[in-house]
Amino acid sequence: MPETVFIGFGSNVGDRVDYCDRAVTLLSLLPHSRLLGVSLLYETEPVRDQTDPGEGWFLNGVVQLETDITARSLLTTLQEIERSLGRDDDDRSGPRTIDLDILFYGEQVIKEPGLTVPHPRLHQRRFVLMPMNELDPLWVHPTLKQSMAELLKHTKDQFHVQLLFPQPSTKYGSRPACSSPSGS
Ligand code: ADP
Ligand code: MG
Repeated sequence: MPETVFIGFGSNVGDRVDYCDRAVTLLSLLPHSRLLGVSLLYETEPVRDQTDPGEGWFLNGVVQLETDITARSLLTTLQEIERSLGRDDDDRSGPRTIDLDILFYGEQVIKEPGLTVPHPRLHQRRFVLMPMNELDPLWVHPTLKQSMAELLKHTKDQFHVQLLFPQPSTKYGSRPACSSPSGS
């Protein structure tokens, strides 16, 4: 059975729209997978917890896929896409051309070396909860047992997140490839 997965993307250096657009397009082309939705782009103040991503504001969004790819292979694929888009492996906590995170892999809870799903910080990040709420407000976090709408309503995250305006059109055809879950 395919799983519904949500992948968060973010970029804060260079042509951020182009990096996001390319990443979404590559995700839309994955084998054994179907693109179900792509959120709008959100502009986000950089969060400095343990890392220093630089001064640049992030562009963030979420992609929803249906896939037969295992969570571990998906992580490897995301890391390959990050590398192909020029992410600096030697300075992973620095400014990033593209960051791809598995937010949810169906309702599965995974705690393995190098792979934690749901992503451990997603419920504290407005820049994840806003696009998640746009794609599926009723999606329930499998361990916190709260919907995206509830988590967003209660988050204490003070960092500023706003819709990017105007929203750019895609250059590579990633959004038109979107189809409804029913396949209609
Ligand atoms: P960030 O936490 O800011 O996304 P990185 O992108 O540098 O930081 O990720 C650091 C490590 O997080 C990766 O090497 C990866 O193995 C690990 N990781 C653990 N769980 C996940 C997940 N759900 N999605 C993506 N990466 C994950
Ligand atoms: Mg990451």
